[in-house]
Amino acid sequence: MPIRILPTEVASQIAAGEVVERPASVVKELVENALDAGAKSVSVSVAAAGRTLVQVADDGAGIPAEELSLAIERHATSKLASADDLFRIVTLGFRGEALASIGSVSRMTITSRRADAPAGARLRVDGGRIGKLEQIGAPVGTLVSVEDLFYNVPARLKFLKQDATERRAIDALLTRYALAYPQVRFRLTEGNAPSLHTAGDGDRRAILAALYGVELAHQMLDILADEEGFKLSGFISPTALTRSNRKEITFFVNGRWIQDTPLTSALLQAYHTLLMVGRYPLAALFIEVPPEEVDVNVHPAKAQVRFRSPDKAFSFVQRATRRALLAYAPVPQVTPATLWGAPAQRVDPTWSLGHAIGMQNGAGGTQTAAAIPQSEINPLQSAVANIPLLRLIGQIGATYLVAEGPDGLYLIDQHAAHERVLFEKLMAQHAQKNIVSQALLSPVMVDLPRASAALLATQVPVLQHLGFDVEPFGTHAYQVRAVPSLFAKSDPASALRALVEDFEEDEAPLQNEIEARIAGRVCKRLAVKAGQVLSVDEQRALLADLETCASPRTCPHGRPTMIHLSVDVLERQFGRRGAK
Ligand code: ADP
Ligand code: MG
Repeated sequence: MPIRILPTEVASQIAAGEVVERPASVVKELVENALDAGAKSVSVSVAAAGRTLVQVADDGAGIPAEELSLAIERHATSKLASADDLFRIVTLGFRGEALASIGSVSRMTITSRRADAPAGARLRVDGGRIGKLEQIGAPVGTLVSVEDLFYNVPARLKFLKQDATERRAIDALLTRYALAYPQVRFRLTEGNAPSLHTAGDGDRRAILAALYGVELAHQMLDILADEEGFKLSGFISPTALTRSNRKEITFFVNGRWIQDTPLTSALLQAYHTLLMVGRYPLAALFIEVPPEEVDVNVHPAKAQVRFRSPDKAFSFVQRATRRALLAYAPVPQVTPATLWGAPAQRVDPTWSLGHAIGMQNGAGGTQTAAAIPQSEINPLQSAVANIPLLRLIGQIGATYLVAEGPDGLYLIDQHAAHERVLFEKLMAQHAQKNIVSQALLSPVMVDLPRASAALLATQVPVLQHLGFDVEPFGTHAYQVRAVPSLFAKSDPASALRALVEDFEEDEAPLQNEIEARIAGRVCKRLAVKAGQVLSVDEQRALLADLETCASPRTCPHGRPTMIHLSVDVLERQFGRRGAK
């Protein structure tokens, strides 16, 4: 093919691809424009998760009628005049691309009126073709309606996810902007009832409650720091509140939501050694720096920035969050009373296995444990063989049971073992379609983050199968009326949270897979914890239950429940073998 200049329409669609990826990107650009226009109130309504309609209304400055047709041109902006201005940017927009891009891949209508204008003006753009300017009565501010996104680029339509996922992206976006701009009233509606409605009174914690639920919001720690012109505010979770992924870590830099930022590593460093491996904090952090300290022009969707001195930003975030964490420390690890009804314990986090053995056996014990070569400790992986009858010796470090078998010593991880026991009992009842449910004396209300509540709604039938009787209660809460009797003594709120907190976005596995996975998760949450002192009877019961399991040697997630030190290993370690 010969080289030629692309027709404008094609070029626009290509450019639009960088800015408009999905309905949530449209919401983002339009909301940013509203904020740039000084809006005090921003209302977003969508239909079909934004596929058929995204509409954003604001009460900002409005666009003069004579500039309306310019606003939808590519590289047309009122926010920037020269390249130097790029380092003085105080608005969210500056590229002058959003309206042009959106207009080229949808049917867009802009209606706007300035306060000093007698009437409003309206302009329609249909797949990049600009209609004619009309005069029309309108309130002060701007209303942009985007219908049939990607109707003229069917290939892009195919990349959209399920409605629930697209809806969640919009919801997540707007909630985060609401948090970043607590002085602005935000509203999100699909259908009749608003799913988000903020007061615009500056109260960030109230918005946090909309995002995470009242209870979690209440636990979050305040961050406020100010150093050499860098300011940090927002919230981070205490060490006891974690997630299995980084999705709940949000950063705003000068009012922009920034993704994939090294600042996330700075935050994680602050938590270093305070969280278990594979667990991540929740955070909503807002950094304000002088505009000349950041280059905002590094990403088409403006989702990244580059700091002039990245190290300074990094260590500022790391120190400020670490300081806050330590100020609230030491966080006593209180283990909730679970199935066993044991009283809550305070645990010394330095209490390790080596330490425990050393304490009990006197000097040298620790060394012995450490000196056994890895290869000679058998984590019993095989799921085939049952375990022999074990004689309980006791509990160490409030974490492991020690037992004697016909062939040496067994160390049993009480949490992993209990997980296995609960899981097999639940799945056995499930297989016989006979999960025994126990009604709670009085129903328990559980407050969940809105997004989790929505996710859970899709899983109610699965939960019923598993013996949970739960019912949505408003947009945020669930009422738990019955739980599987296996879990009768445990905290129903904790069980329900366990069900949703690690739910992945697009989880849509087969029905029986879901059930096993959900069962595994509940069992994990409700099993006795490491660090929980068990009575001798409880220890015995756990061993006896484990002996009856079909796969006693691993927890449902595949970790070993026990380590075996054979008589042979012991003899060699003590130099008895061949010593006659
Ligand atoms: P940018 O935001 O990068 O300037 P856009 O394409 O998003 O580019 O918008 C183009 C121009 O249209 C803006 O610079 C602004 O002057 C005007 N505009 C867009 N949306 C609004 C709005 N909601 N209120 C007032 N003016 C707006
Ligand atoms: Mg813009």
